[in-house]
Amino acid sequence: MSIRRAAWLRALADAVERIESWESRWPVSDEENPSEGELQALSELTDRLRDNYPFGSPSYAGQMLKPPHPVAWAAYAATTLINPNNHALDGGPATAQMEREVIAEIATMFGFEPSAVLGHLTSGGTMANLEALWIARELHPERPIAYGANAHYTHSRVCGVLGARGIEVPCDGDGRMDLDALERRLRHDRPGTVVASFGTTGVGALDPVREIADLCVRYDARLHVDAAYGGFFALIGEREPALIDVSATKALRRADSVVVDPHKHGLQPYGCGCVIFADPTVGRFYKHDSPYTYFSSAELHPGEVTLECSRSGSAAAALWTTMRAIPLTPNGGLGDMLAAGRQAALVFADAIADAPNLRLVYEAQTDIVVFAPYEEGLDAAATSEWTKRVFRTLMTDAQSPLFLATIRVDSAACEWLREGGKEVTVLRSVLMKPEHRARAAGFVETISRAAGAQRTPPAGHEPGASP
Ligand SMILES: *Cc1c(COP(=O)(O)O)cnc(C)c1O
Repeated sequence: MSIRRAAWLRALADAVERIESWESRWPVSDEENPSEGELQALSELTDRLRDNYPFGSPSYAGQMLKPPHPVAWAAYAATTLINPNNHALDGGPATAQMEREVIAEIATMFGFEPSAVLGHLTSGGTMANLEALWIARELHPERPIAYGANAHYTHSRVCGVLGARGIEVPCDGDGRMDLDALERRLRHDRPGTVVASFGTTGVGALDPVREIADLCVRYDARLHVDAAYGGFFALIGEREPALIDVSATKALRRADSVVVDPHKHGLQPYGCGCVIFADPTVGRFYKHDSPYTYFSSAELHPGEVTLECSRSGSAAAALWTTMRAIPLTPNGGLGDMLAAGRQAALVFADAIADAPNLRLVYEAQTDIVVFAPYEEGLDAAATSEWTKRVFRTLMTDAQSPLFLATIRVDSAACEWLREGGKEVTVLRSVLMKPEHRARAAGFVETISRAAGAQRTPPAGHEPGASP
């Protein structure tokens, strides 16, 4: 076992012992050893888990996936011995309080006055956005909800779920919401809420939040910012020099609601999203009365301001512990980790620009780089096939595989392409690990070499045929 893992396992064992010493005040339920069948099941699990990509390895730079920080893992595992439920203060008094504390810190990161907002954790970004759009619909039931063509696909689906009319706003050439198009929409369709993306899932683009906030004021619309992916980058907008769009970062505090996913850039295991409302009085829409949830205190319970009922107290505990260990600060703490990923993306993008057979498709705005194998005169279909060959070759290299992702984009984004084909498949890399910074330039060399070797399909293979 790696030295680091072994040390964390010992730390977990210590934490478990401390929990047991607390538990020893009550009768213990059993002292039996695990059965053969139970142990066998666990060993079958680890066999089955081999069917995964190496998300934790620095050579994995594909999707927005990585294992949680060990401190989050240990905190989560230890808390699960108790398994508190954050739907009510009595379901998990300690973890409900931790949830409040982490919400205050996340609110502060976005520039809100933490005591003035209403926020809570959710099982993920989709649920968090669902809550934000539900409030949007409750406040303006007759008006549509506008989101960018670059927005996460769940926004249009959530509008369907809510029975709200969703309208799409086109993007500019950098993958950001187009402001002229938004203004036309605001004038003609009168959306009650505009959804801006701070870090799009596909290309990591940062919508111009300040200008969107100005337009929302002018046309009397609310602003929801979906920062599920990019939210924690707000930290590095505060660094000197700032590593991302400062104007968009500073405008986050003008949002009526913001969503961020600690299970993406907050080092957490899945099951941890977050929504924050600038106006705490929207809590009135959550009002419900149930005879079976045990409300024993006069204080507001988390379950009274969340759509979900049972929620993982372990998720709150893991986030709280992580933020104690790795604070939400621009320098040091989480800021340094995000800065490293951002710098990796800048190095990577520069190297792409220098490689003769690669081209950037979008400017890298966070830690996601979208690029394509390039040769003058190629069309979309040939570029897509070339992309897929490069992707597969890199991933299946026996010596040192490199794991990237692919993405379909509008062919207009690759202005060098010969006419034909509305969409083109290109390469995408999410450089979300600090270790990527030292490796980014080497990655591009490897990719450029693979692109050279894979320029033409292997003999005997028609385009589109599998190798
Ligand atoms: C990931 C993501 C979502 C969806 O969040 P889940 O946690 O996957 O449910 C929504 N919006 C954006 C911008 C995202 O990146």
